[in-house]
Amino acid sequence: MYVCLTCKSTFYAPKVYYEAHSFENPPYELFRECPICSSTYIEEGNCKKDTDDEE
Ligand SMILES: [Zn+2]
Repeated sequence: MYVCLTCKSTFYAPKVYYEAHSFENPPYELFRECPICSSTYIEEGNCKKDTDDEE
């Protein structure tokens, strides 16, 4: 499940679209965003830390 950082909505399928820019052929750039407000979202339950900030 994903959680939007802006509207706090939860959803299972983010909105996906392709931005072709000026390319005439694929591969196009793939974007994923909140289906409600088109903002950035995070994956819920992802407790894995990429950084090792031990104090
Ligand atoms: Zn949203």
